[in-house]
This record gives sequence, structure tokens and C-alpha cells, in this order.
Amino acid sequence: MKLHWQILIALVLAVIAGLATGVEGSLLGLRFYDVYTFIGTLFLNGLKMIIVPLVVSSIIVGIAGIGSSRAFGRLGGRTLIYYLATTFISVSIGLLVVNTLTPGIYEGQPLKDVINLTADVSAIADKVEGRGAGDLVDVFLRMVPPNVVAAAANGQMLGLIFFSLLFGFFVARVGEPHAENLYGFWAGIYEVMLQITLFIMRFAPIGVFGLVAVVMADTGASGFLDLMEVLGLFFFSVLLALALHFLVVMPLILHFVAGVNPVRHYRAMAPALLTAFSTASSSATLPLTIECVEKNAGVSNRTSSFVLPLGSTVNMDGTALYECVAAMFIAQAYGLDLSLTQQFVIVLLALLTSIGVAGVPSASLVAITIILGYIGLPLEGIALIYVVDRLLDMCRTAVNVFSDSCGAVVIGRLEGEEGILKN
Ligand code: ASP
Repeated sequence: MKLHWQILIALVLAVIAGLATGVEGSLLGLRFYDVYTFIGTLFLNGLKMIIVPLVVSSIIVGIAGIGSSRAFGRLGGRTLIYYLATTFISVSIGLLVVNTLTPGIYEGQPLKDVINLTADVSAIADKVEGRGAGDLVDVFLRMVPPNVVAAAANGQMLGLIFFSLLFGFFVARVGEPHAENLYGFWAGIYEVMLQITLFIMRFAPIGVFGLVAVVMADTGASGFLDLMEVLGLFFFSVLLALALHFLVVMPLILHFVAGVNPVRHYRAMAPALLTAFSTASSSATLPLTIECVEKNAGVSNRTSSFVLPLGSTVNMDGTALYECVAAMFIAQAYGLDLSLTQQFVIVLLALLTSIGVAGVPSASLVAITIILGYIGLPLEGIALIYVVDRLLDMCRTAVNVFSDSCGAVVIGRLEGEEGILKN
């Protein structure tokens, strides 16, 4: 059976098992919840374990192979334009949907008057702390890490990526024999990392089961369904906007800009998309994204090694869209009528903060607090969306990963690659 079917079945079983056992269900004194957590964490650790060596070797090999600085500049320019354009489109879709459906108004009243905010704000503040968006200027400071080993150890991907780009660029320029030695060395590491990724991918169905069962058990326990009555429209608005981007905009770009069959690309990316959905982390999914884009979609390492690692932290269409919808929703819920200028500021901030957000679960929340701060909304508004955040996180992460993969296809085609999505 194909891997993505196995993962899909695991997902369905996880929903059933998680809801059935809940947080407290146990057998012979052993809580099911603990078993799910153990399996899920083990799988997640496996994925995270390979990120640093995979990202470093993939970028070095890819960039060292590019050759001239002009070719490098062209690739970088195209990638940047793709990232910005798709993120801007996704935020605009979010803005349109949230203005049309107005999920923050419930039966003519701002939502805040309808429900009592019960969630503990300080607990949420703890949760979002250290998620890595920080101040906007900070994003650029983190790009050049004072200590590259520390950046790698702390999962600061931007810094690690920047160093790897520089390293790869100069590997091609040090002259022989070093250039050849270094290239061979890193190419070897890269191949081994891909093999390890394949090995870990075999456990994806079990890992996904654990991860999703935990989420479902938590969701069942949090009175999710009761809240759905008032938060349902917000939930639906986010899903609708994400679906428009995922099922309409992206295929159109694939068809018209890249000239490939979008259905083939969905099929090629299925294992990575399902893993993104289950882990809610673009970073943890990165090994699978690279594997699927190179092996299934046929994009060269030269393109994917640049577009994908960078994209997993910089290009977050789903996240930017969510930030915009969430901030607008909170404004509506507090009875605030935002002017066009203020809405434009939200769009801009969603775009900028999504660049700095780390590819880890719930990372958007900290970006949303930044946006709320800028437009003067109370931070406790976060408590409104907190309960439904995880499920929406799973969906937006899949969109983030899909947009990165489409970027690799589009840019690969623009760079003249012929073998992309041919079967
Ligand atoms: N979880 C998302 C990701 O890893 C980031 C976010 O929107 O919270 O892509």
C-alpha cells in the first residue's frame, strides 16, 4: 500500500482512538494518552534529529553546484518574488473572507459580549513565549548568527541557512583540491541524510497516529464542540480561505506559471502534506518535503535545496493568511470597526511577521500578539482563538508546506528544468 494511504488510515484511526479514550482512558493502569504522546514524540524527534545535517548539506551541495554569481542572483530573485507574491495573495484571500463572513459578530453582537473569556491568559503567554518571532528587526538580526553552532543547537533555522548559503557559495570558489574534496564530502552526507529520511518515513503512519490521537484527546476534553457554536464561523472562515489558496490559487499557478499538471503535484506531495498536517510543523516536515519534491516531483537538488529550507521559515502562506483572519476576527469580536488603512497595516504585518515565524506548532500566536499590539487590541483576544488553534495550525502548516513545494516546481521550471512532474 502507498505510504500516503497508510498515513491517511492512521489519521482516521487516530481520530477515533483519541476521541474514544480521551485524556483519562487507561488499560491496566497505563494511560492511552501517555502511549500516544510517547509514539508521537519519538517520531517527531526522529524528524527533528535530521533537520540540521540535512538542511546544511542540502544547501551546501545545491549552492556549490550553481556556479556563477549571476545564476545564483537570478535564482534568489525569482524565489523572493514567488514567496512575496504568493503570501500577499493568501493574505488578501484571508482579508476578503473575514470581511465577508464577519465571524467575530454573533447574532448582531460582538462575540466578546456573548461568551466569557475563560482561558487563562498568562498560561497562553507562557506557551507562545520563545516561539521565535520576536520583534520585526530581530528577524534580520537572527539571520546573521553570532554563533553558528548555537544557532543550529537552538533550531534557529534562518541563521543556519544563511551560514550554509555562504559556505556553499565559497566552496565553489576556493579552488582545487579543496573544492572537490568538500563537495564530495557534503554530497555524501546529503545522500546519507536522504536515506535516513526514507527510513524514518516508514514509521510515519505510526508516528502520525500518536501525534493526532493526542490532539483529538485534548480537543475532546476541551469542550471543543460547545465552543464551536460561537467559534464555528471563525473556524470555517479560516478553512475556507485556506482551501481557496490550496485548491484554487496554487493549482492555477502550477498550471499557468509552471505549466505542469497540479493533480500530479498533489499526488507527489501527499506524504509530506499529511505529515505537515499531523505535526503542525513546517520545520519537522522539511526532510519529507525535500524527499517528495526531489524524488516524486523530480525537481533538481540545485533548486529545491535553495527554495525549500528557506521557504520552510520564510514562505508561510497559510500562517500569514491565518494571522490576518485571526487579527481581524479579534477586532470584530471586540466590536472594533477597522478603517481601510488599519486593515492594510494588518495585511502588511501579517506578511512581515510570517517571514520571521518559526516553523513550529502555534508559532503564529506570537505573531498575532505582535499585530494586536500594533493596532492596539487587547492581547487577551488570543484566548478567543486558542482553543481552536491546534486544528487550524495543522491545516495552515499543510498549506505552508504545499506553497514551498509549488515554489520549487515553479522556480525549477523557470530555470529550465524539463523533468518535473513528468510521471
Ligand atoms: N505551525 C506553523 C508551521 O510550522 C507555523 C504557525 O503558523 O504556527 O508552519
